[in-house]
Amino acid sequence: MKAVVVECDYQNPQVERLIEPAKSLASGGIVVFPTETVYGIGANAFDGEACGRIFRTKGRPADNPLIVHVSGIDMARSVCDLDDRWVPKLVKFWPGPLTVVVKSSPSVSAEARAGLETVAVRSPSSPVARALIDLSGVPVAAPSANLSTRPSITDGDSAVRELGDLVDFIIVSGRSPFGIESTVIDLTSTPVRLLRAGSTSLEELEKVFGKIEVTDTAKGIGEDARPLTPGSKYRHYSPVRPLYLVSRNQVISIGNDDRFSNYLFLCSDEVAAKIRNQSFRLGSETDLDGVARNLYYAFRELDQRNVRGGFITMFSGKGMGLALENRIRKATSPVPPAISSMIEELSN
Ligand code: AMP
Ligand code: MG
Repeated sequence: MKAVVVECDYQNPQVERLIEPAKSLASGGIVVFPTETVYGIGANAFDGEACGRIFRTKGRPADNPLIVHVSGIDMARSVCDLDDRWVPKLVKFWPGPLTVVVKSSPSVSAEARAGLETVAVRSPSSPVARALIDLSGVPVAAPSANLSTRPSITDGDSAVRELGDLVDFIIVSGRSPFGIESTVIDLTSTPVRLLRAGSTSLEELEKVFGKIEVTDTAKGIGEDARPLTPGSKYRHYSPVRPLYLVSRNQVISIGNDDRFSNYLFLCSDEVAAKIRNQSFRLGSETDLDGVARNLYYAFRELDQRNVRGGFITMFSGKGMGLALENRIRKATSPVPPAISSMIEELSN
């Protein structure tokens, strides 16, 4: 199947171009569309057959549920049991990159919630996503549009390259504004738990929801024996080429060593200015939002370039820092002994 590719302005979507994709969604089709976080691959959340197709298309494990995208509180009520006390808190973040896990309505397909009693719900701020949901009139179950284990897609060209033969429509609107997935919190537990760090910061959430429990899984350090969020037990977000996590000083030394000229260095603007080997600038060290916007794009660039692999340094801290730390840990593999001995030799 060849997808119909529809170009659409992100801020001011040409509604007439979204009519056919919306009809397709409402009648069992699969549509790739831009959200403010990353591109999503969507289907009608009430349609089990269509949601099943998302899993087959992505190669996604059947026990990893989807996020249901709604236009707002009213549509949210059609897919879940929403306690009134959450509504004033939710509207502080919606529309936007916050996903909440709540008790599901039976009407949501078992496929979309992977058989769980709970469902993940969010109201996206992307004007294209909002127009699409409004026109289709149905809640849209949509995980990230990448094939399973690959980095999420944050630009239209990558969406067409990866899914051009697999879905009904692809709506293309340039680069994703946030570049990292939504934050997922569990409202069924007390205190509220962070299931996945993401584009809404923990600091902002705690101002509204009070103290939030943060597990190592949410930080990307080790995996829980019984994962809190089904997705956290799977390998994720990785480029195909090996990507190694090294320190800032190590990047500066190997980034100037000829033996590493066939590697790509994913680093801050500040570090890139200090190295000779090929680099991909993620943005300034002082602008973690900018780094987040470029991270997955850089992972995909690593796979496009003719190099043996890549090196990256850690970015962490407040705001987007927690999500960056999690994604970088998950995408990187341990430095093999042959390379670490070369790195050690350089530091002596
Ligand atoms: P993706 O959109 O590909 O990033 O995947 C959606 C994320 O939301 C995954 O990490 C899922 O495990 C998580 N998620 C979806 N539904 C639930 C749920 N009912 N309980 C916990 N986590 C969920
Ligand atoms: Mg994903």
